[in-house]
Parts: sequence; structure tokens; C-alpha cells
Amino acid sequence: MFDTVIVVDWSGGNDRGTTPKADAIWVCVARGGVADAPVYLRNRQVAEDWIGDTVRAERAAGRRVMVGFDFPFGYPQGFARAVAGTDDPLDLWDWFAERIEDAPKANNRFDVAGAINLSLGGKGPFWGNGLKRDIDGLARTKADYANPFAERRRAEVLAKGAFSVWQLSGAGSVGSQALMGLPVLARLRQRFGDDLAVWPFQTLDTGIALVEVWPSLIAPEIAARAQPDEIKDAAQVRVLSQALSALAPDRLAAMLAEGDTEEGWILGLGHEDSLRVALRPDGPLPPPLSNDCFALPPGVNWTPVDEALALLQERLTPVAQVETVAVQQALGRVLAAPVTALRSNPPRPNTAVDGYGFAGRREAGVHVLPLVAGRAAAGGDFDGAVPAGHAVRVLTGAALPAGVDTVVLQEDVTVDGDRIAFNGPVKAGANSRRAGEDVAAGDEVLPQGRRLTPADLALLAAVGVGAVPVFAPLRVGVLSTGDELAEAGTDAGETQIYDANRPMLLGLLARLGHVAVDLGRVRDDRAALAAALDGAQVDAILTSGGASAGDEDHVSALLREVGALALWRIAVKPGRPLALGMWKGTPVFGLPGNPVAAMVCTLVFAAPALALLAGSGWQEPLGFTVPAGFEKSKKPGRREYLRARMREGVVEVFRSEGSGRISGLSWAEGLVELPDGPLVVKRGDPVRFIPWGGFGL
Ligand code: AMP
Ligand code: MG
Repeated sequence: MFDTVIVVDWSGGNDRGTTPKADAIWVCVARGGVADAPVYLRNRQVAEDWIGDTVRAERAAGRRVMVGFDFPFGYPQGFARAVAGTDDPLDLWDWFAERIEDAPKANNRFDVAGAINLSLGGKGPFWGNGLKRDIDGLARTKADYANPFAERRRAEVLAKGAFSVWQLSGAGSVGSQALMGLPVLARLRQRFGDDLAVWPFQTLDTGIALVEVWPSLIAPEIAARAQPDEIKDAAQVRVLSQALSALAPDRLAAMLAEGDTEEGWILGLGHEDSLRVALRPDGPLPPPLSNDCFALPPGVNWTPVDEALALLQERLTPVAQVETVAVQQALGRVLAAPVTALRSNPPRPNTAVDGYGFAGRREAGVHVLPLVAGRAAAGGDFDGAVPAGHAVRVLTGAALPAGVDTVVLQEDVTVDGDRIAFNGPVKAGANSRRAGEDVAAGDEVLPQGRRLTPADLALLAAVGVGAVPVFAPLRVGVLSTGDELAEAGTDAGETQIYDANRPMLLGLLARLGHVAVDLGRVRDDRAALAAALDGAQVDAILTSGGASAGDEDHVSALLREVGALALWRIAVKPGRPLALGMWKGTPVFGLPGNPVAAMVCTLVFAAPALALLAGSGWQEPLGFTVPAGFEKSKKPGRREYLRARMREGVVEVFRSEGSGRISGLSWAEGLVELPDGPLVVKRGDPVRFIPWGGFGL
């Protein structure tokens, strides 16, 4: 029904400056279930222009637009009549528009509210004064306040957690947003006239609909989809606009059928499930992993690293569902399908320099060519043809006009009125780019499984791709186990150690592109561990500690109890057994407790396994053969990883191999990988160094 949905997170406050901030005005435009990047608008004046101009552009493109604002469009019954002398809330909007004065750094909302209170007996309905000076008729707190109207609108009685429209200050209050927003809406009505209707007060048979929205209706969905470091307001407008624009027409119709023609209504109230369904990625659910996906061949004692990795590669499949996101939102996401170019880059032949264009090569010697009128500039529309033997002025990036395939640099040209002169030779096609010389329309530009980089986004945009199918981000929980663990920064007894693994593992996961979920710490207690695993709403879990076969190794014991443990004795140093198992359908990677072993096992085993679950396919770490800056002899039987870094062309290793030495982890910038067999390394011998980046960090 609506081609475009714009959701606005409004603000009653003053100008918030140039840097995007929380609690300012945020807007997001979505079409067909794909949201653009949220836009930060520093104050209401900027926002009013931006929203109006965007709506006008959408209408010019022939699209129907729904604009949602997160403040009440009406007041409890009787207020409009008492103040503006009519029951029509839109008259009340005009009444406010005449009285509210708004500038980036000051406005008169508290004075207007005080004056209304005075006209109604002096004790209400408004309360809350955010200013230093007192305002006649406006109580600072709710204590000395009397309200002749209902405290809440009908919609707010149903919307749990909604604030009263009468409260003008304090965190979360919407009263000020309405006072400062309704005049803006009144002006949008004037600007767009009969093409605009307001829900639920008017019939929506227009090109533009204004609706009241409230992101908190889907707060958990927004929290789950917020990107790391995304400002909450930005996530709210992004996810809500996505949901509203993805709604099935009958679901939206059902929402629009609700309402109260005096008080207004919150779009989607009572229909939250429809919004949730609209956000759900499309396509069938991926098949679940089988409970024995970590089972090992019987009888094997120490599994070589390569065999362990081959087993993981064979058994694990993507568990994430597929969704479509705008290119601007796709950084770090994993492509769920290959992407082909929708058009060529460049789409037409163009000039690589500022200069003069003509047809064909020129021999050595002086050339004088008459200039045609006009010029071809980037994005311009020079549409004449250039006759043979003539030249035309061209600027970098301009499509070559008909009759031009060669360009001479302006620095090499003398201009004399309507003629140019230059020295040959000039090769045919010089200084110009052929259409499609970079990418041809229809070429596959990126494969399935690609984790999108900033450069990939440039490529997608250049070849005309605006949205891509991606896997939902993998949510990975991190749980520490051990009676000895204390939380960083708290007082710890002499026998305790601080939980170092959890912040490290959460950080590794974030760097690997997953959503890291902190599951906290549990004691060496089977019930507590089971409860923590049960409560985790994640796609995979990393635990550290308690993974061996000792009395206090509850991770392995618990997984064995539910019959889904494979204790992987991998021939690797550092690293004790890795407990791989399934907990009620969720894969659990039981890492060793030693921080060094925990990190090495994460990078060598968990990272590629998680990449498979996330849909990015099998990832080999990217290492380099470099000269050793150390000496070492190693016994056969297991692969070894040494904390290492490159200095002056050689790789050096940490002075100690102790697996409790966390300082060495921090010192290192990668790992040296020594093969399974026996080896004597002398200075200068080639060894394999894998920088952290080679593991995908
Ligand atoms: P575990 O695997 O539980 O036997 O633990 C092996 C070693 O790692 C012990 O010295 C533990 O104290 C230590 N350890 C276990 N968990 C952590 C952690 N989260 N942070 C730092 N050290 C740990
Ligand atoms: Mg332990």
C-alpha cells in the first residue's frame, strides 16, 4: 500500500550539534522491507526541511509515502475542546502552531503549557518544568498538580511503559516532543495540502500518510538487531521502518483499522506479532545440526589437527537465516547468495582526465582542431555528436559524447578561441575508460559466503546493487566456569584469579564479525552450568574451563550426561582436550581454561567452525613463510603454536611457552605454526607465521 516508509524519532530538546548523538532526531527511510542508513538531524528546523524535501522527492518519483512520528498525535478526550474550542485534533495542531516559538537553542514550550494550565484553573494538566526559572501555572513535580482530563489516552493504557502526554520533563517523557512536534506536522499538512492525510483522523486515500508510531512495541526485536555501537535511536528508526515497510498489505490494513478519532492511536498497537513476522527473514529455516555432528571415529587417541579440522568442515553447515539489507547496512555481513552486476562499471565510456575529446589516433606532429560549442562534464547531459575532425571540451568522469573515443590532456593543449592545438602522437582511446572495462553487467562480482568489506560495498554500489541477501549475524555466547574466578575490577581473595578469558573471547568474537553475547560466569556446579546454557538465546556457545575429564570438569561431564559430548584429544600444543558437544541443539565449544590455550583453540578450531555456521564457508588461516628469528627443537606427535611477532624481517617468539603467560598473548601479533613432525629450527630457517589478521581478526 505504501512504497516508502519513513520513521522519525523526534526530540523535544534543543540543537544537538554536528556529531550524531543519542536523544536527537533520527530518521530512516525504508522501501520493500529494506531500510537505508539512519540519518541524524541535529535540530527540528533541519528535520522539518529534510522530511518535507524527502517526502516531496518520493512523491515526484511516484511513490506513496507513510511517515511515522514517535509522539502522540492527540490528547485525552476533552482537551482539544477545552483549549482550541473544537473536538478536531487537527485544529489543536494549528492552535499550537500559532503559539509555539521554536529556534535551535530556545523555545517557549513550558510557557505555552503554563498558559494552558492557567486557563484551566492553574494546576494542570501539564507538569514538569525543565527550566531554571519558575513558570506560572506549571508545577515542577507531580506533587502539587491536578488534572481535569484523563491521565492517559486509551492507547497508552494498552501500551505498557508509555509515558503520559502531560509530563513535559524527565527522561522518556513525550509531552514536550508532542508540543514541539505537532506544529511541524501542522506545517507539513499545509505544505502538502490534499495529498496528505493524518491517521486515524482522516481517510488515507492520499499519497502521503502521517501516522503515530512507538518503537518500544518491538523493543526486543530492535535490541536483537542493533549493530555493535549503533546509537539506540538509530536502531529504533531503522528496524521499525524496515518492519513497517515489510508488512503484508492485509496486516497493515488491520493495523490501520484501529484507532481513536479524537485521541489518536499508536500504529501497530495490538498487532505487534505482525511487526515481528514482517521482520522475520524470508526463506525456509536452515536444517538443525545433528546431535552427533562432533562424534569422532572410534579408537582414535590423539587426533591430528588437520583431521579435526576436516571433521568440522564436513559436519557443520550454516545455521543462520537469510535477510535482505541495504548496501549501506551490509558492512561485515555474510552474503547468502552470489551477487551479479546489474550494470557495467563504467556504464558508458568516459574520460579519465580533464582535456579535449575527438575521434581516433593522431600521428606525430602538430594538430589543430576546431572546438564544438558546449562541454561534457561528469553527470552532465551533453547530447550532441562531435563531427569528425572536431574536438570537444571534456571533464574527468564525463561520458564521452558520440563521435569521441580519445582524449588529450588539457595540460598538453593550447586553446585559441574556438580551436585547440596539440602535438601528436596520441594513441586511439588515450585517457579514456571503456564501458564495462572494470565490470560488465551480468558478471558475478562477489561469491556467496563473502564477508563484506568497505571496498565490497563500493563495488556493489558501483554496479547498481542497492540491497543484498545476507545471513543473519551469528549470535555466540561466552561463559566462563570455575570456582576460582572473580570479575575484573572487583575485590578478589588471595586464592582467586580474575576471569581473563571472558573479555578476551568476547573480543575475539566481535573481531570475527559475530554478535558476542556475554553469558557471565558460573561456579563449578553442574546445575548452575545447565541453567546458564539453558538461558542462552544464541546460535553457539564458547565455554572456558572445566573441559577435561577431572572431578571438577563439569562442562564435559554435563555434555556427556545429555549424550552429546565428543572429547576431542587433539594433538596440539597448547591445548588440552577440547569438549565439543550439542546442548539442546546448540553447538558448544568447551575450551581449555588456560588463557593461552583458550585463545589458540578459539583461533585454530572455533573460528573456522563458527565461520561455517555463519555461512562464510571454510576459512583457512592466511599465513606467510618467513625467516625464523629464534631457535627451537620440537618432538614429533603434535602441532605447536608459538606466540610470535614480526620484527625487522624475522619472526620472533615469546620468551616463555608457559600456557598461563597472558602477557605473551598480549605481546604477540600472531602465531608461528610448527608442523606435526619433529623439527629443528635454526635462525633464518623458513617458518610459517600467521598474523592475527590471517585468522580473520
Ligand atoms: P580448567 O580447564 O578449568 O582446569 O582450568 C585450567 C587453568 O585455567 C586453571 O589454572 C584455571 O584457573 C585457569 N582458568 C580457567 N578459567 C579461566 C578464566 N576464565 N580466566 C583465566 N584463567 C582461567
Ligand atoms: Mg576449572
